[in-house]
Amino acid sequence: MADILTITREHVSGILTKNAAPAAFCQDGGTVVFETRDCYDDAVVSEKRPLGDKTDPIENPATGPLYVEGAAPGDVLKVEILDIRLRDWGVMRSSTMCGVFHEDFTERTARIFPICGDESDGRYIVFDDCLTIPLDPMIGVIGTAPAGEGITTDTPHSHGGNMDCHKIVKGSVLYLPVNVPGGLLSMGDLHALMGDGEVLICGLETAGRVTVRVHVIKGDAARMLPTPFLYCRGRVMTIQSAVTLDAAGDLAAKAMKTFVKDAAGKDNLEAGMLMSLLSDMAVCQVVDPLKTVRVEFPLDVLEQYGYHLP
Ligand code: CA
Ligand code: CA
Repeated sequence: MADILTITREHVSGILTKNAAPAAFCQDGGTVVFETRDCYDDAVVSEKRPLGDKTDPIENPATGPLYVEGAAPGDVLKVEILDIRLRDWGVMRSSTMCGVFHEDFTERTARIFPICGDESDGRYIVFDDCLTIPLDPMIGVIGTAPAGEGITTDTPHSHGGNMDCHKIVKGSVLYLPVNVPGGLLSMGDLHALMGDGEVLICGLETAGRVTVRVHVIKGDAARMLPTPFLYCRGRVMTIQSAVTLDAAGDLAAKAMKTFVKDAAGKDNLEAGMLMSLLSDMAVCQVVDPLKTVRVEFPLDVLEQYGYHLP
């Protein structure tokens, strides 16, 4: 088997920007491995040194960007998450500045957790003498380059970015906007596990290898998708970020309602009824510069109206 195109962890940046030189090029339909660093730039390797071992670490380094041949502004980049492989340890660190509980802490503390188990039987951490916790690996930062100014990898926005949505897992399909030629896809900030909200400030931060297959979607099929848009485990999801949770929730719900209208051929009233009956609103994260909310809707309902995801 030919080697799969791999973007190594030397190709990282703290900003998603149209000015970045592509780290690799692939064809529409290509399969690519992204090797990622953890959100601390792989610098926090000991609980004794919670500030880390690098003088100038990149915050939330994202690996890339990948230039997808044929992707043009207005298209949608379909990113199938084929696999997420983690290194054998994760790290969490408290913050005195950010997160819901930051006032609890006067100094930064790091905890390192070995990742146990294997891919086939499931991986877990031993939290303490009482508790083991099964893992559910996800991608925290994944996005394309925005059209205008670059956006740092700590921030989620319409290009994706630091969405910290724990539904971006193996088997998920993420649809991102193509704002610039080639799309310029990057990703990083893997979490071995994270709950909705990410309230402390971090997930179980780790590094690893993500295998994706990318497709370019064009025309009406692309225009219908309210990006960033996600398929995960039988549900489609809108993901929106704003200064407040209220605003992010409104954006995510309205984006999904418009999609349901188009996909099911409904008017505002019936689409609103379906949303009120069947959609779930959830908080992705409350700790990045913008807050992120997702709205989930069952795909099989839309398929009963004849809609199928591209
Ligand atoms: Ca993150
Ligand atoms: Ca993180």
